[in-house]
Amino acid sequence: MNSFDVIIIGGGASGLMCALTAGQRGRRVLVLDSSNKVGKKILMSGGGRCNFMNLFVEPDNFISDNPHFSISALSRYTQWDFMALVEKHRILWHERDHGQLFCNDSAKDILTMLLAECEQAGVQIKTHCEIAAITATENPAKRFQLKSSKGDFTAESLVVATGGLSIPTLGASAFGYDIARQFGHEIKATRAGLVPFMFSDSFKEVSERLSGLAHESVLSNERNAFRENILFTHRGLSGPAVLQLSNYWFPGESVSVDLFPGEDIAAWLLAQKKQHAKSLLRTLLSERLAKSLVLELQTLFWAAQAETAMAEIPDARLAEIAAHLNGWRLKPSGTEGYRTAEVTLGGVATDKISSKTMESQLQPGLYFIGEVLDVTGHLGGFNFQWAWSSGNAAGQVV
Ligand SMILES: Cc1cc2nc3c(=O)[nH]c(=O)nc-3n(C[C@H](O)[C@H](O)[C@H](O)COP(=O)(O)OP(=O)(O)OC[C@H]3O[C@@H](n4cnc5c(N)ncnc54)[C@H](O)[C@@H]3O)c2cc1C
Repeated sequence: MNSFDVIIIGGGASGLMCALTAGQRGRRVLVLDSSNKVGKKILMSGGGRCNFMNLFVEPDNFISDNPHFSISALSRYTQWDFMALVEKHRILWHERDHGQLFCNDSAKDILTMLLAECEQAGVQIKTHCEIAAITATENPAKRFQLKSSKGDFTAESLVVATGGLSIPTLGASAFGYDIARQFGHEIKATRAGLVPFMFSDSFKEVSERLSGLAHESVLSNERNAFRENILFTHRGLSGPAVLQLSNYWFPGESVSVDLFPGEDIAAWLLAQKKQHAKSLLRTLLSERLAKSLVLELQTLFWAAQAETAMAEIPDARLAEIAAHLNGWRLKPSGTEGYRTAEVTLGGVATDKISSKTMESQLQPGLYFIGEVLDVTGHLGGFNFQWAWSSGNAAGQVV
């Protein structure tokens, strides 16, 4: 009774997708999860509406030491395949900026859909299940033996779908990495991704005073640039541009904020100087930026010219000020870390994993799917797409 074709450790997005796919092939599947319920991150995702996919999926939307690894699975189970499933279950959705699809009603719709498919496919799910030990045997039919708080189990295939380290209160653990190490896999250094920046310098007080203000900017460093909103918060900077760039940021580095994306603000300032010679710089900028932000910028960048008419400010000085507006340098002291991060960068190295099936090349019958692998998506539904695609890839063969 405790013998299964497939045991999946972790009933999150990738584990449930793998389970329903394998179950539909007639495999006897057991999902084991240490939490009190499965799919907790799905329920929390997208502000409760679950950004379950993106219309425009490109390899560039994924970060990994091996950028080619995700291509195979993503091209075999695409966003259109997932959309067909969503449509089959009559889940209403809407599109937001950048091709992001969200549920109209609730993220619960997506979890209910996955669980309904699992049930139909005869998948068994056990929650509150702590796994104490995993051993591999020479018997292919009972290759893996698991000792757990819910009893002992054997399985032909073992799928690790334990996700990343972000948000421990939602059940995140390092267990998947421990299993990978047990079977000789390397773990690429992990760090929090899609996470707000914190500051300990004078900008901390600026962000506190501006807390709640959002402004469309280009946030960049030498690795990438994102044109989206930045959001000033009590702790520092958040908003989509910040979450995106956090995936490309390392401690000790600065980032650059262009408050006027795609516009040469020096040219605009010089034109304003001609047209509004008697105006103050803050008056002119307040037509383009929130007044509270302009006052902070004035203190930082042109305090000495605060009461000087435009005509009296030398062109070279205006060019210096413009350089700050098009490239405000900020140095985060860190990120908010796993407590609030949406994802974990790094993870099980992909070089010893089949990109077609997600099977380990070191231990036959062992699979890794979803976020536990060294594959991380951009903000916008890409992390779920990776969970669906990698889960399906393994589900087809386990
Ligand atoms: C707040 C938040 C919002 C997000 N919003 C979005 C979004 O809108 N769109 C998007 O694409 N991505 C979003 N993400 C990211 C997305 O949720 C994850 O990338 C995705 O869930 C990863 O799927 P997974 O199956 O690999 O892991 P998870 O979904 O995290 O599932 C892992 C499962 O393993 C279980 N587990 C962990 N340790 C053990 C253990 N020792 N034994 C047994 N079971 C264990 C956990 O309880 C969990 O059920 C969000 C993440 C967060 C935290």
